[in-house]
Amino acid sequence: MVSLADNLNKLSRRIENATELAGRKSGSVKLLAVSKTREAEQLFEALQHGAREFGENYLSEALEKKEKLERMPGTEGLVWHFIGPIQSNKTKPIAENFSWVHSVDRLKIAQRLAAQRPTTLGKLNICVQVNIDQEETKAGVNPAELTELLAQIDQLEQLSIRGLMAIPDPTLENSNALQRMQDLFEQVKQQYPSVDTLSMGMSGDLEEAVAHGSTMVRIGTDLFGPRPPKV
Ligand SMILES: *Cc1c(COP(=O)(O)O)cnc(C)c1O
Repeated sequence: MVSLADNLNKLSRRIENATELAGRKSGSVKLLAVSKTREAEQLFEALQHGAREFGENYLSEALEKKEKLERMPGTEGLVWHFIGPIQSNKTKPIAENFSWVHSVDRLKIAQRLAAQRPTTLGKLNICVQVNIDQEETKAGVNPAELTELLAQIDQLEQLSIRGLMAIPDPTLENSNALQRMQDLFEQVKQQYPSVDTLSMGMSGDLEEAVAHGSTMVRIGTDLFGPRPPKV
């Protein structure tokens, strides 16, 4: 049996230790609970043990769970992050149901999210996904095109640029991907005062990501247990 309480405690300790080791301020790294493929009941249990922010990859699955959770007691104030690839015909429900999107990697998507964001919900928080290892099959903007994309997104009133997201290629050794992301993040932070988020680090590289300036680690496996293989 997976104990979410134990896992959350362990993760808090890992994050705190890594933060301290890096000489960073305590509490400067947030945990995003990546809840793709998990049942609403598991999310409910995680939130009872202190998780408030959830990251989802698949839109229809996410909307179903969100609706279910919102009918459960004590679930006000949850923060939903969309972290999966985005098809342009799915931007409207994303703009209407999430507070954050970590996977914006092209202008068209940003423009649609901005146009479809209900003004009553305030600005949508955006991290631009960077394809830091320039993998052909992976989403994300090429690092060389990041500056221009950010400048264009900055023109969109309904969006707030909060930072960068990356999923480094785990099979590469000595790629310095985390270091290169940290450098990009520092540059972007200088340019845009709203930028405060480096969304980087998963179960397998949490410590290294925190050592390289991550402010938000996205954890699935080490919180909820192994994911069932995709069918
Ligand atoms: C699934 C996923 C995660 C979580 O990965 P784990 O290795 O299970 O912690 C983080 N970020 C993104 C974008 C994901 O799709």
